[in-house]
Amino acid sequence: MTSHLSDKLSEFRPSRTVASIEVSEILSIGARANAMRKAGRDIISLGAGEPDFDTPDHVKDAAIDAIRRGETKYTPLDGTPALKAAIRSKFKRDNGLDFEPDEISVSAGAKQVIANAMAASLDPGDEVIIPAPYWVSYIDIVKINGGTPVIVKCSEDTGFRLTPEALEQAITPRTRWLFLNSPSNPCGAAYRAEDYRAILSVLERHPHVWVLADDIYEHIIYDDFRFVTPAEVAPHLKDRILTINGVSKAYAMTGWRIGYGAGPKALIKAMAVVQSQSTSNPCSVSQAAAIAALDGDQSQIKARCLDFEKRRDLIVRAIEGIDGLQCRKPEGAFYAFVKCEGVIGRKRPDGMEITSDRDFTDYLLDSVGVAAVPGSAFGLAPYFRISYAASMESLEDALGRIASACTKLRLP
Ligand code: PLP
Repeated sequence: MTSHLSDKLSEFRPSRTVASIEVSEILSIGARANAMRKAGRDIISLGAGEPDFDTPDHVKDAAIDAIRRGETKYTPLDGTPALKAAIRSKFKRDNGLDFEPDEISVSAGAKQVIANAMAASLDPGDEVIIPAPYWVSYIDIVKINGGTPVIVKCSEDTGFRLTPEALEQAITPRTRWLFLNSPSNPCGAAYRAEDYRAILSVLERHPHVWVLADDIYEHIIYDDFRFVTPAEVAPHLKDRILTINGVSKAYAMTGWRIGYGAGPKALIKAMAVVQSQSTSNPCSVSQAAAIAALDGDQSQIKARCLDFEKRRDLIVRAIEGIDGLQCRKPEGAFYAFVKCEGVIGRKRPDGMEITSDRDFTDYLLDSVGVAAVPGSAFGLAPYFRISYAASMESLEDALGRIASACTKLRLP
């Protein structure tokens, strides 16, 4: 009895916060797809959130040079002066924004910048407005840091963009942050200057609300769409905007883990306190590589973008031809958010009814070996996300399989 009791006491017990967080559906679908592949099934995974290109050679060379120069020690906590200088030039060049070095923070990826900002600013119960569909990590980062996500669904009718009216309704005295992500993961929608102007004018009436602008997909943008960022559109609100970016997506550097944020000094200082007691400086070698990416030739970005644009066009065209599915043309990022309302209520060949987007993505995986993520994982149903960071051949193959799976569905 005693030993049974002590066994119980020594069992691992996660904190209440961690226990409230579910394993990401993206990860569990990936794990299922991998298990099926291992068992011999031919699986096409359209779940990955990283470019399928390689890191440019001049960036790799800069990292090797840094190692040879001995840049393998601790660096200043939130970024080397040289990397901060490259980030300042990037903001000036691409966004017309001026930042001082102490208004910039460099971390192990944009994800850590967001996590630092939340740890530095949230008290239990503080609210964070997150427009849906959203990047899944936003919700969990807010929860881990004691905040309460306030989800505002944005319909396809408004281009999946938050409207000023919906924002006004969501704001309470507890609101600390509004998250904005353009172009968006998972739907590829981007905000035009006039969209941002309308939303940000609401915040003029609510000085306690700050903005976190996640611009990580800034450079993956199509059809001459002009990318803008909130601090550029509303310079009078710059003292409560944190602008976040990084090298992961633009330069195919997901594994190097460099992201950065620029905003008011007091916030940046508080974020440095958080980072000082978690990871300390981001990797010294990756910082040298990021300088080469930001200061080097930018023409490769455009070339890769054109490649992504061809894939986007292929997907949108193919989906248009499939009965039951619809796809809004994304302005950027490398995701298509496909509406599957038309297949809900139909029956699989085995007689099971498709009652949700989850049922539909399960059906795609089971029947034709295509792994995609249901929209409900991103807070908006009935949709599913296709990542087109995959070769044209595998996309063509996947779209053919999706079409054939749909034709096998029986109408109710
Ligand atoms: N923000 C969004 C919207 C993303 O989709 C991702 C990665 O998928 C990130 C931030 C994180 O990027 P990083 O690799 O710089 O941490």
